[in-house]
Order: sequence, then structure tokens, then C-alpha cells
Amino acid sequence: PDEIPRIPAPEGAEGADEEGMIEVTPDSGFYATKALGLEYRQGPELPTLKYGFPDSHFICFPYETRRTGIYTAGCVRRPMETAKVIDDATGAAMKAIQCTEATSVGMAVHPRSGDMSYPEFNTQRCTQCKRCTEECPFGAINEDEKANPLPNPTRCRRCGVCMGACPERIISFKNYSVPMIGNMIKAIEVPEEDEEKPRIVALVCENDAYAALDMAGIRRMQISPYVRFIPVRCLGSVNLVWIADALSRGIDGILLMGCRYGDDYQCHFIKGSELANTRLTKVSETLDRLALESDRVKFVEVGITDYEKIPKIIEEFMETIEEVGPNPYKGW
Ligand code: SF4
Ligand code: SF4
Repeated sequence: PDEIPRIPAPEGAEGADEEGMIEVTPDSGFYATKALGLEYRQGPELPTLKYGFPDSHFICFPYETRRTGIYTAGCVRRPMETAKVIDDATGAAMKAIQCTEATSVGMAVHPRSGDMSYPEFNTQRCTQCKRCTEECPFGAINEDEKANPLPNPTRCRRCGVCMGACPERIISFKNYSVPMIGNMIKAIEVPEEDEEKPRIVALVCENDAYAALDMAGIRRMQISPYVRFIPVRCLGSVNLVWIADALSRGIDGILLMGCRYGDDYQCHFIKGSELANTRLTKVSETLDRLALESDRVKFVEVGITDYEKIPKIIEEFMETIEEVGPNPYKGW
């Protein structure tokens, strides 16, 4: 630039003027931040895990970070020797090429590679609650000064976490929305109480849990015929209104099947299953309002290799529902 920019000086920095401003030095990261478009509401840094390595899905997407388009390699990613670093850099570069090609034609990158849909915001009804901007695991939604969401579509991985977060239900995709899954739940037949057939709805993460369920089916494992399975993009995309609607229709229990969360998480969207579990704590308010037992809604962690556990998981939930009895809203 013709004129060297000045920015507020970091605390304790030498060379600050009386107004607390300091000249930008070439190696300060200031120019890189501008050139790379790193204006994230959470800051330009790569979110990291416990030991300072970038937060990534260590099994399925080891090069990815929570900043779409930025890939890490070598010792930035994890400790490794020099020979391995060369291979690792090649892998990360390949990922970067894939990302450039996909986003240039409007497609999502991993894990929903090739998805052409974007979250759409009906901003007229937005209450500026900031839930979507805070919960997006990839920093794809910034805010303006009035807290209106500002989506960055090329950063978006189409997980639907924002859709699950929005209390106004104004975020949707052309091929995935709150009414779409809501109508699937409404279309499920609920047997009358005297038929003595419980009805359970399982919302299943399509990434791992649904594949495990599929494997259980291929292996002809016996699963209760009273359960209806609905795949979802991520448990983080589950909007609590689906649970409230299902229970108020007389469905006896809701099972949420998603990836492991915590330090060794396996959620393909980093925070989706953890967010779903956190949101479930708020379901108790809905259950209290409907005077229903909290046991009717359960979250279970299912890995892709856990298919042998699925019949038992479902059987145990069926036993719980049998103990709490039929949903009193049946037939209303
Ligand atoms: S779909 Fe996922 S990645 Fe895209 S804006 Fe919503 S929360 Fe962020
Ligand atoms: S979660 Fe919904 S209501 Fe809240 S800021 Fe985002 S779009 Fe607006």
C-alpha cells in the first residue's frame, strides 16, 4: 500500500503512538488476513484441540480444519517425521485443489461433497438471536452491526446445524428443511392405545449411525418393527420443534442416534452431535409443558462399526417406553 496502515496496538507492544495505534509490519499476519478473507466472527485463528493442533476429524478428514479451504499438513497437524511430512503436504494440497474446484461451481466440500444446496435465510423474521452465527461449526456465518446473519456460502459445508439452531425456523435448504422432516414425522401412522403397539421415531445421523443401521439390516439383525427411522444430515440439524410435534401427536418415544462427541469426537461436522445433546437438555422444558416423562427422548452415540449394538440399543429403549407406558396424547 502507498501508506502503511495503522491498527490498535496489542497490549504491551513497543512503538505504539499516543493514541495506542501501531504500524502494521509485513510479517504481522494483517495482509494475510485480508488476502485470505479470514474475517471470521470468531477471529482469524484456526480453532485448535487440547494440545494446540487444529481441530479436525482425525479419522475421516485429517487435513481439514474448521476453516473451509484451509488445510494443515506435517507438524502443524500432528507430530511426525520429515519423510512423512512430504507425503502429508501432498495430501493437503490435493484437498485444497478439490476444495477450489468444488466451491468454484457452488458445490460443498467434504463431507457432503457435491451438494449444491445452500442454507437460505428468511431474514424478515430473524430476531437477531445469534444462535446460528454462534453455533455454525465452520464460522460460515458472520454478523453485521445489528446482529443480522451474513452467510458466507463458500465456507458452508451444508451440515444444517444453523437450521437446527434457529428458534424461528427461518433457515432452510431447497432439499432439506424443518417443514420437510416435520411432514415426514406427521405422515407416520400412530397406532391407537388399544392396539398395544408403541410407535418410536429414530432421527439418525446419515454419516455413521445410518450406515451402521444399514449394515445391521444387511446382516439381517432383528430390529423392533415399531420404530420408524428418519435420516438427518447431522444430529446438529435436529430442530427441537420436531420432537415437540412428534410427542404432541402421540408418538411414544424419540431416539436420536448420532456420532460420539467429546475430546475424541467422531462427528463429521465437529460439534453437531454435542450441540444436539446440549439442546436436548432444553427438551425437558417441552416435556414438562406437555406433562410427559423425560425418558421418552434419548440420545445414543453410534459409531459406524457399532452395527452389532443397534438391536440392543433399540430393545433397551423399547423396554423403557414400555415401562413409562403409552403417550397420553394418542388420538388427540
Ligand atoms: S449449513 Fe452448517 S456450515 Fe453451513 S452455515 Fe449452516 S451451520 Fe454453517
Ligand atoms: S438463529 Fe434464526 S433468528 Fe437467530 S439470528 Fe440466526 S436466522 Fe436469525
